[in-house]
Amino acid sequence: MEKVTCFRNIGELIQVQPGGETPKLVKKTRCALLVSQGKVDKVIRDSEVNHHDFFREVDLEGRSVLPGLVDCHTHLIYAGDRKDEMEQRMAGTSYMDILKNGGGILSTVKATRQATEDDLYEMARQRVLRMMTLGTTAFEIKSGYGLDLDTEKKMLRVGQRLRKNLQVPITLTYLGAHTAPKGKTIDQYFEFVMEHLPEFRHLADGVDIFCERDVFTVAHLRRLFLHAKLVGFHQLRAHVEELSHQGGCYNAARLGAISCDHLEHGTPHDIRALELSGTTAVLMPGVTFFLGGKKTPPVHAMIEAGVHLALATDCNPGSSPSYNMQTVLGLAQSLYQITPEQALIAATHGSARALDGHKNYGGLLPGQRADFIVLKTNDYRDMFYCFGENFVDQTYSAGKKVKGKKDPVSF
Ligand SMILES: [Zn+2]
Repeated sequence: MEKVTCFRNIGELIQVQPGGETPKLVKKTRCALLVSQGKVDKVIRDSEVNHHDFFREVDLEGRSVLPGLVDCHTHLIYAGDRKDEMEQRMAGTSYMDILKNGGGILSTVKATRQATEDDLYEMARQRVLRMMTLGTTAFEIKSGYGLDLDTEKKMLRVGQRLRKNLQVPITLTYLGAHTAPKGKTIDQYFEFVMEHLPEFRHLADGVDIFCERDVFTVAHLRRLFLHAKLVGFHQLRAHVEELSHQGGCYNAARLGAISCDHLEHGTPHDIRALELSGTTAVLMPGVTFFLGGKKTPPVHAMIEAGVHLALATDCNPGSSPSYNMQTVLGLAQSLYQITPEQALIAATHGSARALDGHKNYGGLLPGQRADFIVLKTNDYRDMFYCFGENFVDQTYSAGKKVKGKKDPVSF
């Protein structure tokens, strides 16, 4: 007999149905979730639970159960931190001046180059576990703090080790084109990235590029994407229209990008391209919040056009050092003026779609991985309403409870 675990006495169970054009949130009350071999079997009424039928029963005491949150844009493998920059920024020092004095992204690059692979792995593992206890059950992780062959490969090997050892869905992205290392121009370094791209084919699932004024241009993005396709990368994604409008979104969508990320300066033309291409727009309100920005992406125009939305932390030491997708949900509601339902769909099914994982997770549907969170209360909207508290009581990955690690003293 198959070993079925019955999670019973669920007060409210939320599933996300892909639907036709727009995914829908489906709420069931007083039910039980049956899990077999790490996957969702079915949902039955709690009154139908026959206690002799199951290998194991877990009483969830009337709480709310949701699909695990999906963080589809992170830079969580890094060493060092940039706490000093908070004070420098508040004192009026510009990011360019911080960079000139050896701070900014180049300080993270230096620390990440110096860290051993084992140290980097342990730091990243602690972060992933911390994120899981906060409710995230699937991740995307980028390289991009090496800007040389050895460190970029080291970062992606760390990502592969995390995937293998933690047995959670992790999508890996080669972000060689993040910025240029010290001593090289953007053009010189870009040629280096292009030349060595095939070496990363078996280390990462996709490529990414930071397309921005004074960094990589639309022409770089186009060349990188065309070459990446030729080399055999399946997932093309890009940081676009974040600090200025460069045209990266339109071009990335046209070349078949799976996601376009940031989009604070997105235009109606970009929205049309996202709509036509089916590319997911990944939004990261944590960056706006942390840097005290005012500009938000044209979220409502995107919703009206039927663009698929996703939410992510952008977890990174410079512009969004947050591990918490619950915070992202609350910020999305307040900064973008969207409903809890819209935010939750974007942070589950939407983010899974940005990783091409939506058949496998993100909806808590029969046949999908049993990745779910149990809240402390019986209404998922509490996460949005009483903002600032951790509402996740338990996290399950493939039906197994994630054990919280003792928090490390330093990040
Ligand atoms: Zn990013």
